Amino acid sequence: MEILDGKSFSNEIKAEVKAKVERYFKEGSPLLACIIVEGDKASETYVASKQKACEVCGLKSMVCRLPHDTSQEELEEVIKNLNSDEKVDAILLQLPLPKHLDSNSAINKISPDKDVDCLTNENLGAMFAGSSFAPCTASGIIKLLERYNINLEGKNAVVIGRSLLVGKSVATLLEHKNATVTLCHSKTKNLKEITNSADILIVAIGKPLFITADYVKEGAIVIDVGINRIDGKIKGDVDYENVKNKCAYITPVPGGVGPLTVACLMENTLHLALKTKK
Ligand code: NAP
Repeated sequence: MEILDGKSFSNEIKAEVKAKVERYFKEGSPLLACIIVEGDKASETYVASKQKACEVCGLKSMVCRLPHDTSQEELEEVIKNLNSDEKVDAILLQLPLPKHLDSNSAINKISPDKDVDCLTNENLGAMFAGSSFAPCTASGIIKLLERYNINLEGKNAVVIGRSLLVGKSVATLLEHKNATVTLCHSKTKNLKEITNSADILIVAIGKPLFITADYVKEGAIVIDVGINRIDGKIKGDVDYENVKNKCAYITPVPGGVGPLTVACLMENTLHLALKTKK
C-alpha cells in the first residue's frame, strides 16, 4: 500500500504558483476575496488556511465577514461590489451558508470571470463540455492521481456523493480522462456490490468511517474526500485503518485531499488573474 501524500504535493503546487506570481505580477499580486457568513466553525478554519496559503504563494487575500443573519439581498450586494472591484481577481463564497440563504442563487451572482471555485452555471457548463478549469477539490484529486502516474484510461471509477462541489465534478473529470464512471448517492441500491468493482473509489459523502474493507476491491485506489469532526479529531469517510491493507493507494485524512483543495484554489486564483491580464 502506498499513501497518496496530498500534503507534500500541495506544497509543490503552491511553490509553482509562487514562482508564477513572481514572474507575471511584478506590479502587484492577484487578490482573492473570501466571503464568509458567520456561524460555521469549520468554515472559519478553512478560510484561515486559505489566507495562509495566499501568503505562502505571494497572493493577496481579503475576507468579507458577514453576520449570521445576513439577508440574501445583503449577501448578493457584497458579491456585486466585489464583481465590479477591479482590484479583486477571484471570489470565493465559503460554503455551507446558513439555512436561510440560497447558495445556488448567491453563487450565480459571482461573475464567471472571478468564480474561483468554478461553481457558476456558466463555468460548470464549460467544465462539463470539456474545459479543464474545475472546482478546486475535483481538480486536486485528478492532479494527485496524475502525480502518482496512475493511468485513468479504461479504469472503473466509482464516485460516492453527487454534489456539484465534489462528486459530480470529479466524476466528470474522470470521464474526461477516459475512465468508466459510476456515480452513486444515498438512493443507490447495492452500493457494496458497485464499489467492489471499483479500480478507483472516490468517497465524498460526509459520513465518518463509512467505507470499510468490505466495500473495497483488493488493490483498489481509494480517495477519501470526507472531513468529519469526531471528539475534536478529523476523520474521513473511509475507515483508513480497516481499509488500508486492501488498497494499492490511499489518501490519509488529514493530509490527503484537503491540502490539495487549498493548493488548487491558489492555482485557480492565478488562472483567473492571468486571464484578465491578457
Ligand atoms: P454534500 O453536498 O452533503 O453531498 C453528500 C453526498 O453524499 C450526496 O450526494 C448524498 O446523496 C451522498 N450520500 C450521503 N450519504 C450517503 C450514503 N449513505 N450512501 C451513498 N451516498 C450518500 O457534501 P459535499 O459538499 O460533497 O462533501 C462531502 C464530504 O466531503 C464532506 O465530509 C465534506 O466536509 C467533505 N469535503 C472535503 C473537501 C476537501 O477539501 N477535502 C472539500 C469539500 C467537501 P444524495 O445526493 O442522494 O443526498
